[in-house]
Amino acid sequence: MKPIILTSPLQGWASPLEAVPDPVFAERMMGDGIAVDPTGDCLHAPCDAVVLSVHASGHAITLRTPEGAEILMHIGLDTVALGGRGFTPCVVEGATVQRGDPLIRFDLDLLVCEARAVITPVIVTNPERFTIVRRETDRLVGVGEAMMTLEPRDSADVAVVEGDTVRRTIVVPLVHGIHARPAARIGETARKFVSEVKISKDERDGNVRSPVALMALGVKLGDEITLAATGPDAADALAAIGDLILGGMGERAPAPATSKFPREGGGPEATNGSAAGSWAPASAGEQEARKPATTLPADGRLPGVTASPGIAIGQAGLFRLAEITVTREGADATTERAALDAALATVTTRLATKSGTATGAERAILTAHTALLDDPTLTAAAHAAIAQGDSAAYAWRTAIRAQADALKATGDARLAERADDMLDLERQVLRALAGEDLDERLSFPPGTILLADDLLPSHLLGLDTASIVGFCVERGGPTSHVAILAATMGLPALVAAGPALAEITAGTPLILDAGAGLLHVAPDAETLATAQTAFDAQTERRRAALANAARECRTQDGVRIEAFANLGSADDADSAVRNGAEGCGLLRTEFLFLERDSAPSVEEQTADYQRIADTLDGRPLIVRLLDIGGDKPAPYLPIAAEENPALGLRGIRVGLAHPEMLDAQLRAILAVRPAGQCRIMVPMIASLAELRAVRKALDAAAAATGHTEHVALGIMIETPAAAITADLLASEADFLSIGTNDLTQYALAMDRGNPTVASDLDGLHPAVLRLIARTCEGGAVHGKWTGVCGGLASDPLAVPILIGLGVTELSSAPALVPEIKALVATLTIDACRAHAAAAMNCISAADVRTLARSFRP
Ligand code: PEP
Ligand code: MG
Repeated sequence: MKPIILTSPLQGWASPLEAVPDPVFAERMMGDGIAVDPTGDCLHAPCDAVVLSVHASGHAITLRTPEGAEILMHIGLDTVALGGRGFTPCVVEGATVQRGDPLIRFDLDLLVCEARAVITPVIVTNPERFTIVRRETDRLVGVGEAMMTLEPRDSADVAVVEGDTVRRTIVVPLVHGIHARPAARIGETARKFVSEVKISKDERDGNVRSPVALMALGVKLGDEITLAATGPDAADALAAIGDLILGGMGERAPAPATSKFPREGGGPEATNGSAAGSWAPASAGEQEARKPATTLPADGRLPGVTASPGIAIGQAGLFRLAEITVTREGADATTERAALDAALATVTTRLATKSGTATGAERAILTAHTALLDDPTLTAAAHAAIAQGDSAAYAWRTAIRAQADALKATGDARLAERADDMLDLERQVLRALAGEDLDERLSFPPGTILLADDLLPSHLLGLDTASIVGFCVERGGPTSHVAILAATMGLPALVAAGPALAEITAGTPLILDAGAGLLHVAPDAETLATAQTAFDAQTERRRAALANAARECRTQDGVRIEAFANLGSADDADSAVRNGAEGCGLLRTEFLFLERDSAPSVEEQTADYQRIADTLDGRPLIVRLLDIGGDKPAPYLPIAAEENPALGLRGIRVGLAHPEMLDAQLRAILAVRPAGQCRIMVPMIASLAELRAVRKALDAAAAATGHTEHVALGIMIETPAAAITADLLASEADFLSIGTNDLTQYALAMDRGNPTVASDLDGLHPAVLRLIARTCEGGAVHGKWTGVCGGLASDPLAVPILIGLGVTELSSAPALVPEIKALVATLTIDACRAHAAAAMNCISAADVRTLARSFRP
């Protein structure tokens, strides 16, 4: 690693730390550094860095350099006591700054009069990793003059030259180690250089241009790896790749313990509402205790891990792909090589074509497949085998299986799941070589519960899902692509059911209770009857509701309630329309871009929003600005690790900290046609100032793009602050939409992803209801409508209360829209108001639920 040069952040007199009249600094309790007695009034960045934190009082700031050095600058002593007076921060947490950028402006006169001292320590707070090898003190310094030079203490991270090979050893800071995404980025960087670069760990090495070879090394967080580059630009290649890895690639932050991504109808709010009843997903703890069965249990209850909840009753269908036979001996090497290259080109083109129209999870899978297929070590291995006389098919199979085995051998579940993708690609290329149709379609009788050793993503996409009611696989993992797709397709699915699954013969009657993590094999009459009753009741309710889903949503006494749907993709939009949704009340735009390595361009975003707007066919589309940060990290937007991410940089705070990202999204939304179909919604608002900042950005984007039509700009009410000040916010917001998932977690101080408080995290708590009431009142003061797009809008027990409190728009999961509409049609406003008033006076969420169960419209 190159030395890091810090330039002076201030104009003034530089002194050793001992000159600071405060032992905390002088005795280096905070770290090593120097101090500057300022004569100027602005603190500047001493190097390129990311802002780790800005003190709430604006008097101190911490930066992190790309190499990982953390620099604290504390303007004056005891200046925290000024409570922010005299300080104007120019940057926010998470911002990327360049050397010389202004960080904090301050009123030097005020500090001189009111602070204990103005001397400003500049401290390296991780001296265990970096040592100061040079410092300029006891002289006047100007902003931008070299002041300190740091070098990493870890002597291991020093490039060593041996002949024409340069080596560098580093410690990996990536939370998930080198998995598919970092491997692809490392490969991409390596391709900019001509030198060969290898990474080695524990005697094994892999070419950095091969994502699979890199993944197969099984590099984990904290592992020491050595980079070795050979060639004319070896030193530059090593510097670039080493710095890329040390920079964290946006993956430094610790992963959340549990996912907080909401799934309407699946969370505690909905299960309490009895919509899911006993078919609710088994808890992670319950599932963990299970071991995959090796033989069928005597009671026929085979446990598995929930990949996608739901119940299905049917008969077993065995998914067996006929093994493709290949002969080892090939024709001449030139012919075989040409055949393989042509087959690879065919599959690559097909992947590109499909990616063009795919959205969400499907697109992410296709992108992953394209990257794997592009792996030069894979083709090199196959070409080498062909040169030895093997046929193209045999060579390809051998090459790909070696890679898949290497991934499985890492013992890392995430990487083992990528091995499935390799086998999928093996099959596609073999079929292309044989000149067969790449779209394999297997058909099954209606009511099939598909059983398989494993299902490859492309198989699932190619299945005729009309006859499949669910599936259960022996292997797989709950985070595999297949699991994600199953959830998106709404198919109940179990994974990791173990080898006992292979004992089940085709046609065996089954109940797949995926939510409870159970497959009932050949159930007895009583079990079948119970399952059938529950299933029938649900089916009938849904059928009746669906039959009337096209009607405009009104209460029995004619009050208009808009029944909208929450969307995360164009497919969801299609489902919403089929289920009678009257618009989209929340498009979670972050779901469209979570799997990406780079920020989506304006054009890409517009294309995605336009597709959804077109599918909605003129119905209103409320596009929520990106809600990343906290539990929804985006790989392309590094956010420094935070002790309490739910209270940190998330929602619109991220947008305001990255104005270019906000501007791109606003322009993309404005470009959707017809103008006016899209409304814009701001997440995580806590103050009017934030709304004004977004309005200003929107006006600027509209002016820059020549957009003249009015665009509705609404806000989400997710913080108690926003609910309490709804009247102030509604004076400038065009509408209010309550995110009850977050509002509940912040009102009750219960992390929505923490299983230990999950059973009490209920949006029907009277405190939350009172905040909702306050929001509706605040909106009404200015004639603005209030909706709900959080989980409560999908909860039948909550709907009458919400309407009674003044909510006029409900945005729920697409599949639930018909039932919500049917329910609203049974209500009268007066009954709902009386019911809501009683609910607000209950003493607990449980009491509200009891009351709600007895409510008769
Ligand atoms: C909510 O918080 O209720 C909401 C709808 O937003 P999300 O669940 O996406 O955080
Ligand atoms: Mg939210």
